[in-house]
Amino acid sequence: MQYYQPDSLSDAVDRLKEADEAKIVAGGQSMMPLLRQGLISPDRLVDITNIPDLNQVTISGRSVEIGALVTYSELLETDLCTELDLLRDAIEAIADVPVRNAGTIGGGVSHADPAQDLPPALQCLDAQVVSFDGKETRRHDLTEFFLDYYLTELAPHEIVTGIEFEMPPAHSGGTYASDTEAPGGWSTAGIAALIIPDEDDGETCVDARLAYCAGAPVPERVSSEIEETLIGNRIDREIVDEVATAIISDLELIDDVGDDIEYRKHLFRVMTKRAISTALERSEAPPLVEASQ
Ligand SMILES: Cc1cc2nc3c(=O)[nH]c(=O)nc-3n(C[C@H](O)[C@H](O)[C@H](O)COP(=O)(O)OP(=O)(O)OC[C@H]3O[C@@H](n4cnc5c(N)ncnc54)[C@H](O)[C@@H]3O)c2cc1C
Repeated sequence: MQYYQPDSLSDAVDRLKEADEAKIVAGGQSMMPLLRQGLISPDRLVDITNIPDLNQVTISGRSVEIGALVTYSELLETDLCTELDLLRDAIEAIADVPVRNAGTIGGGVSHADPAQDLPPALQCLDAQVVSFDGKETRRHDLTEFFLDYYLTELAPHEIVTGIEFEMPPAHSGGTYASDTEAPGGWSTAGIAALIIPDEDDGETCVDARLAYCAGAPVPERVSSEIEETLIGNRIDREIVDEVATAIISDLELIDDVGDDIEYRKHLFRVMTKRAISTALERSEAPPLVEASQ
Protein backbone atom coordinates (compact mmCIF):
# COMPACT_ATOMS: atom_id res chain seq x y z
CA MET A 1 0.00 0.00 0.00
CA GLN A 2 1.35 3.43 -0.93
CA TYR A 3 1.41 6.12 1.72
CA TYR A 4 1.58 9.86 1.02
CA GLN A 5 1.63 12.81 3.36
CA PRO A 6 1.09 15.85 1.10
CA ASP A 7 1.51 19.34 2.47
CA SER A 8 -1.14 21.12 0.43
CA LEU A 9 -4.81 20.55 -0.28
CA SER A 10 -4.35 20.54 -4.05
CA ASP A 11 -1.52 17.99 -3.83
CA ALA A 12 -3.71 15.81 -1.59
CA VAL A 13 -6.57 15.92 -4.11
CA ASP A 14 -4.14 15.02 -6.94
CA ARG A 15 -2.81 12.06 -4.96
CA LEU A 16 -6.36 10.87 -4.33
CA LYS A 17 -7.36 11.22 -7.98
CA GLU A 18 -4.40 9.39 -9.50
CA ALA A 19 -4.87 6.10 -7.58
CA ASP A 20 -7.48 3.43 -8.36
CA GLU A 21 -8.61 3.25 -4.77
CA ALA A 22 -7.23 5.88 -2.44
CA LYS A 23 -8.37 6.70 1.07
CA ILE A 24 -7.86 9.77 3.20
CA VAL A 25 -6.54 9.27 6.71
CA ALA A 26 -6.61 11.96 9.42
CA GLY A 27 -6.66 10.86 13.10
CA GLY A 28 -6.87 7.21 12.02
CA GLN A 29 -9.32 6.31 14.79
CA SER A 30 -11.82 4.77 12.40
CA MET A 31 -9.51 4.12 9.45
CA MET A 32 -6.88 2.09 11.29
CA PRO A 33 -9.33 -0.45 12.80
CA LEU A 34 -10.86 -0.95 9.33
CA LEU A 35 -7.42 -1.55 7.81
CA ARG A 36 -6.28 -3.84 10.63
CA GLN A 37 -9.40 -5.98 10.35
CA GLY A 38 -8.99 -6.20 6.57
CA LEU A 39 -12.42 -4.63 6.01
CA ILE A 40 -10.91 -2.24 3.47
CA SER A 41 -7.71 -2.52 1.44
CA PRO A 42 -7.07 0.70 -0.50
CA ASP A 43 -4.00 0.81 -2.72
CA ARG A 44 -3.10 4.28 -1.42
CA LEU A 45 -3.42 6.16 1.86
CA VAL A 46 -3.31 9.95 1.73
CA ASP A 47 -2.51 11.29 5.17
CA ILE A 48 -3.78 14.88 5.35
CA THR A 49 -2.36 15.79 8.77
CA ASN A 50 0.51 17.89 7.32
CA ILE A 51 -1.80 20.22 5.42
CA PRO A 52 -1.54 23.64 7.09
CA ASP A 53 -4.50 25.83 8.01
CA LEU A 54 -6.91 22.96 8.69
CA ASN A 55 -6.27 22.96 12.43
CA GLN A 56 -7.62 26.37 13.39
CA VAL A 57 -10.77 27.41 15.20
CA THR A 58 -11.77 30.89 13.99
CA ILE A 59 -14.52 32.99 15.53
CA SER A 60 -15.43 36.16 13.71
CA GLY A 61 -18.41 37.99 15.18
CA ARG A 62 -20.97 35.18 15.53
CA SER A 63 -19.49 33.06 12.72
CA VAL A 64 -17.53 29.98 13.72
CA GLU A 65 -15.16 27.97 11.51
CA ILE A 66 -13.62 24.77 12.82
CA GLY A 67 -10.84 23.30 10.66
CA ALA A 68 -11.19 19.65 9.70
CA LEU A 69 -7.97 18.64 11.49
CA VAL A 70 -8.97 20.11 14.85
CA THR A 71 -9.14 17.18 17.25
CA TYR A 72 -12.01 16.70 19.69
CA SER A 73 -9.64 17.39 22.60
CA GLU A 74 -8.36 20.60 21.02
CA LEU A 75 -11.91 21.80 20.46
CA LEU A 76 -12.83 20.96 24.05
CA GLU A 77 -10.06 23.31 25.24
CA THR A 78 -11.41 26.33 23.36
CA ASP A 79 -13.58 29.15 24.72
CA LEU A 80 -16.17 28.01 22.18
CA CYS A 81 -16.85 24.89 24.25
CA THR A 82 -16.99 26.93 27.45
CA GLU A 83 -19.69 29.05 25.88
CA LEU A 84 -21.56 26.34 23.95
CA ASP A 85 -22.77 23.63 26.33
CA LEU A 86 -24.30 21.79 23.39
CA LEU A 87 -20.94 21.31 21.67
CA ARG A 88 -19.06 20.53 24.89
CA ASP A 89 -21.56 17.87 26.02
CA ALA A 90 -21.43 16.14 22.63
CA ILE A 91 -17.63 16.02 22.55
CA GLU A 92 -17.41 14.79 26.13
CA ALA A 93 -19.69 11.90 25.15
CA ILE A 94 -17.19 10.66 22.56
CA ALA A 95 -15.29 7.56 23.67
CA ASP A 96 -12.36 8.44 25.92
CA VAL A 97 -9.37 10.79 26.05
CA PRO A 98 -7.06 8.80 23.69
CA VAL A 99 -9.77 8.69 20.99
CA ARG A 100 -10.59 12.38 21.50
CA ASN A 101 -6.87 13.29 21.35
CA ALA A 102 -6.48 11.73 17.90
CA GLY A 103 -9.95 11.88 16.30
CA THR A 104 -10.60 14.92 14.14
CA ILE A 105 -13.78 16.86 13.44
CA GLY A 106 -13.41 16.30 9.69
CA GLY A 107 -12.74 12.59 10.11
CA GLY A 108 -15.76 12.24 12.37
CA VAL A 109 -18.28 13.73 9.97
CA SER A 110 -16.72 12.05 6.92
CA HIS A 111 -16.84 8.61 8.49
CA ALA A 112 -20.62 8.97 8.87
CA ASP A 113 -21.12 6.36 11.53
CA PRO A 114 -24.81 6.60 12.51
CA ALA A 115 -23.86 6.55 16.21
CA GLN A 116 -21.34 9.40 16.00
CA ASP A 117 -22.04 11.81 18.88
CA LEU A 118 -21.08 15.17 17.39
CA PRO A 119 -23.30 15.38 14.25
CA PRO A 120 -26.62 15.85 16.14
CA ALA A 121 -25.16 18.83 18.04
CA LEU A 122 -23.83 20.31 14.79
CA GLN A 123 -27.19 19.70 13.09
CA CYS A 124 -28.90 21.69 15.87
CA LEU A 125 -26.44 24.50 15.16
CA ASP A 126 -27.46 24.42 11.45
CA ALA A 127 -23.82 23.68 10.63
CA GLN A 128 -22.40 23.30 7.16
CA VAL A 129 -19.61 20.98 6.08
CA VAL A 130 -17.07 22.69 3.82
CA SER A 131 -15.23 20.55 1.27
CA PHE A 132 -12.73 20.98 -1.56
CA ASP A 133 -12.45 18.78 -4.64
CA GLY A 134 -9.44 20.41 -6.32
CA LYS A 135 -11.58 22.89 -8.25
CA GLU A 136 -14.36 24.21 -6.09
CA THR A 137 -15.23 24.68 -2.46
CA ARG A 138 -18.66 23.23 -1.63
CA ARG A 139 -20.86 23.79 1.39
CA HIS A 140 -23.20 20.97 2.46
CA ASP A 141 -25.99 21.36 5.03
CA LEU A 142 -25.22 18.80 7.68
CA THR A 143 -28.87 17.72 7.65
CA GLU A 144 -28.43 16.54 4.04
CA PHE A 145 -24.77 15.54 4.09
CA PHE A 146 -25.31 11.98 5.35
CA LEU A 147 -26.88 9.67 2.78
CA ASP A 148 -26.76 6.23 4.42
CA TYR A 149 -24.64 4.11 6.76
CA TYR A 150 -21.05 5.35 6.32
CA LEU A 151 -22.03 7.24 3.18
CA THR A 152 -21.94 11.00 2.61
CA GLU A 153 -22.35 13.41 -0.30
CA LEU A 154 -18.54 13.60 -0.68
CA ALA A 155 -16.95 12.45 -3.95
CA PRO A 156 -14.08 9.96 -3.43
CA HIS A 157 -11.40 12.63 -3.91
CA GLU A 158 -13.22 15.40 -2.02
CA ILE A 159 -11.67 16.57 1.25
CA VAL A 160 -13.59 18.08 4.15
CA THR A 161 -11.79 21.27 5.11
CA GLY A 162 -13.99 22.34 8.01
CA ILE A 163 -17.32 22.98 9.66
CA GLU A 164 -19.07 26.35 9.79
CA PHE A 165 -21.99 27.64 11.82
CA GLU A 166 -23.43 30.76 13.43
CA MET A 167 -23.43 31.02 17.22
CA PRO A 168 -26.96 30.67 18.60
CA PRO A 169 -28.30 33.60 20.65
CA ALA A 170 -26.74 33.97 24.11
CA HIS A 171 -30.13 33.51 25.82
CA SER A 172 -30.62 30.06 24.22
CA GLY A 173 -29.78 26.79 25.95
CA GLY A 174 -28.44 23.52 24.59
CA THR A 175 -27.21 20.09 25.53
CA TYR A 176 -26.52 16.60 24.24
CA ALA A 177 -27.90 13.66 26.24
CA SER A 178 -26.87 10.10 25.54
CA ASP A 179 -26.88 6.65 26.98
CA THR A 180 -24.13 4.11 26.57
CA GLU A 181 -23.80 0.48 27.64
CA ALA A 182 -20.30 0.93 29.03
CA PRO A 183 -18.22 3.93 30.11
CA GLY A 184 -16.45 5.30 27.03
CA GLY A 185 -18.63 3.18 24.74
CA TRP A 186 -20.67 4.19 21.73
CA SER A 187 -24.05 5.78 22.39
CA THR A 188 -27.11 3.55 22.12
CA ALA A 189 -29.37 6.63 22.11
CA GLY A 190 -28.15 10.19 21.69
CA ILE A 191 -30.11 13.41 21.31
CA ALA A 192 -29.06 17.04 21.04
CA ALA A 193 -31.41 19.91 21.88
CA LEU A 194 -31.22 23.65 21.36
CA ILE A 195 -34.03 25.79 22.78
CA ILE A 196 -34.30 29.48 21.95
CA PRO A 197 -36.76 31.47 24.09
CA ASP A 198 -38.21 34.78 23.03
CA GLU A 199 -35.76 37.53 23.92
CA ASP A 200 -38.49 39.93 25.07
CA ASP A 201 -40.91 37.84 27.14
CA GLY A 202 -38.13 35.40 28.11
CA GLU A 203 -40.34 32.30 28.13
CA THR A 204 -42.12 31.62 24.82
CA CYS A 205 -40.05 29.18 22.80
CA VAL A 206 -39.37 30.80 19.40
CA ASP A 207 -37.09 28.09 17.99
CA ALA A 208 -36.39 24.52 19.01
CA ARG A 209 -33.99 22.15 17.31
CA LEU A 210 -33.59 18.47 18.09
CA ALA A 211 -31.39 15.90 16.37
CA TYR A 212 -30.40 12.35 17.23
CA CYS A 213 -27.83 9.68 16.50
CA ALA A 214 -27.95 5.88 16.85
CA GLY A 215 -31.64 5.89 15.92
CA ALA A 216 -31.47 5.62 12.12
CA PRO A 217 -28.94 4.88 9.34
CA VAL A 218 -27.75 8.51 9.59
CA PRO A 219 -27.69 11.20 12.30
CA GLU A 220 -31.01 13.00 11.80
CA ARG A 221 -32.65 16.30 12.61
CA VAL A 222 -36.05 15.50 14.17
CA SER A 223 -38.99 16.23 11.86
CA SER A 224 -40.13 19.84 11.86
CA GLU A 225 -43.68 18.82 12.92
CA ILE A 226 -42.27 17.49 16.19
CA GLU A 227 -39.95 20.45 16.76
CA GLU A 228 -42.91 22.79 16.15
CA THR A 229 -44.73 21.27 19.14
CA LEU A 230 -42.24 23.20 21.27
CA ILE A 231 -42.48 26.46 19.37
CA GLY A 232 -44.90 29.24 20.26
CA ASN A 233 -45.41 27.94 23.79
CA ARG A 234 -43.98 28.22 27.24
CA ILE A 235 -42.56 24.69 27.45
CA ASP A 236 -44.10 22.63 30.25
CA ARG A 237 -43.83 18.96 31.26
CA GLU A 238 -46.83 17.95 29.18
CA ILE A 239 -45.23 19.35 26.02
CA VAL A 240 -41.92 17.65 26.81
CA ASP A 241 -43.72 14.31 27.32
CA GLU A 242 -45.57 14.78 24.03
CA VAL A 243 -42.33 15.42 22.12
CA ALA A 244 -40.53 12.52 23.83
CA THR A 245 -43.32 10.16 22.75
CA ALA A 246 -43.62 11.61 19.24
CA ILE A 247 -39.92 11.25 18.58
CA ILE A 248 -40.25 7.47 18.57
CA SER A 249 -42.16 7.71 15.27
CA ASP A 250 -39.11 9.43 13.73
CA LEU A 251 -36.71 6.60 14.55
CA GLU A 252 -35.71 3.79 12.21
CA LEU A 253 -34.29 1.38 14.73
CA ILE A 254 -32.92 -1.90 13.45
CA ASP A 255 -32.76 -5.09 15.45
CA ASP A 256 -28.99 -5.35 15.59
CA VAL A 257 -26.63 -6.78 18.15
CA GLY A 258 -27.49 -4.14 20.75
CA ASP A 259 -30.42 -3.81 23.13
CA ASP A 260 -33.89 -4.73 21.94
CA ILE A 261 -35.90 -2.14 20.07
CA GLU A 262 -38.50 -1.46 22.78
CA TYR A 263 -35.75 -0.78 25.29
CA ARG A 264 -34.00 1.58 22.87
CA LYS A 265 -37.27 3.43 22.26
CA HIS A 266 -37.55 3.82 26.02
CA LEU A 267 -33.98 5.20 26.11
CA PHE A 268 -34.81 7.73 23.42
CA ARG A 269 -37.89 8.88 25.36
CA VAL A 270 -35.82 9.37 28.51
CA MET A 271 -32.91 11.06 26.70
CA THR A 272 -35.29 13.40 24.87
CA LYS A 273 -36.92 14.51 28.12
CA ARG A 274 -33.51 14.97 29.69
CA ALA A 275 -32.16 16.95 26.73
CA ILE A 276 -35.13 19.34 26.48
CA SER A 277 -35.26 19.93 30.27
CA THR A 278 -31.53 20.62 30.49
CA ALA A 279 -31.54 22.86 27.41
CA LEU A 280 -34.43 24.81 28.92
CA GLU A 281 -32.66 25.14 32.30
CA ARG A 282 -29.61 26.49 30.52
CA SER A 283 -31.59 29.03 28.53
CA GLU A 284 -32.89 32.24 30.05
CA ALA A 285 -36.43 30.81 30.07
CA PRO A 286 -38.00 30.04 33.46
CA PRO A 287 -37.65 26.45 34.73
CA LEU A 288 -39.91 23.64 33.55
CA VAL A 289 -43.36 23.65 35.17
CA GLU A 290 -46.27 21.23 35.20
CA ALA A 291 -48.78 21.65 32.37
CA SER A 292 -50.12 25.21 32.19
CA GLN A 293 -53.85 25.62 32.88
C1 LIG B 1 -12.30 2.73 20.49
C2 LIG B 1 -13.07 3.80 19.78
C3 LIG B 1 -14.24 4.28 20.35
C4 LIG B 1 -14.98 5.27 19.72
N1 LIG B 1 -16.12 5.74 20.33
C5 LIG B 1 -16.78 6.79 19.76
C6 LIG B 1 -17.90 7.38 20.40
O1 LIG B 1 -18.31 6.98 21.49
N2 LIG B 1 -18.54 8.40 19.78
C7 LIG B 1 -18.11 8.90 18.57
O2 LIG B 1 -18.69 9.83 18.05
N3 LIG B 1 -17.04 8.37 17.95
C8 LIG B 1 -16.36 7.34 18.52
N4 LIG B 1 -15.27 6.82 17.90
C9 LIG B 1 -14.96 7.27 16.53
C10 LIG B 1 -14.09 8.47 16.49
O3 LIG B 1 -14.77 9.59 16.97
C11 LIG B 1 -13.81 8.60 15.00
O4 LIG B 1 -13.00 7.53 14.69
C12 LIG B 1 -13.12 9.83 14.63
O5 LIG B 1 -13.89 10.96 14.87
C13 LIG B 1 -12.77 9.83 13.17
O6 LIG B 1 -11.85 10.83 13.02
P1 LIG B 1 -10.41 10.48 12.54
O7 LIG B 1 -9.70 11.79 12.38
O8 LIG B 1 -9.77 9.48 13.42
O9 LIG B 1 -10.72 9.86 11.10
P2 LIG B 1 -9.99 8.70 10.31
O10 LIG B 1 -10.10 7.43 11.04
O11 LIG B 1 -8.63 9.13 9.91
O12 LIG B 1 -10.93 8.66 9.02
C14 LIG B 1 -12.27 8.24 9.14
C15 LIG B 1 -12.93 8.30 7.77
O13 LIG B 1 -13.07 9.64 7.35
C16 LIG B 1 -12.34 9.89 6.15
N5 LIG B 1 -11.73 11.20 6.36
C17 LIG B 1 -10.94 11.60 7.39
N6 LIG B 1 -10.70 12.91 7.32
C18 LIG B 1 -11.33 13.35 6.22
C19 LIG B 1 -11.46 14.64 5.61
N7 LIG B 1 -10.93 15.74 6.14
N8 LIG B 1 -12.18 14.73 4.47
C20 LIG B 1 -12.77 13.64 3.92
N9 LIG B 1 -12.69 12.40 4.45
C21 LIG B 1 -11.98 12.26 5.59
C22 LIG B 1 -11.36 8.74 6.01
O14 LIG B 1 -11.06 8.47 4.67
C23 LIG B 1 -12.15 7.62 6.66
O15 LIG B 1 -13.05 7.09 5.72
C24 LIG B 1 -14.53 5.81 18.49
C25 LIG B 1 -13.34 5.33 17.90
C26 LIG B 1 -12.62 4.34 18.54
C27 LIG B 1 -11.34 3.86 17.91
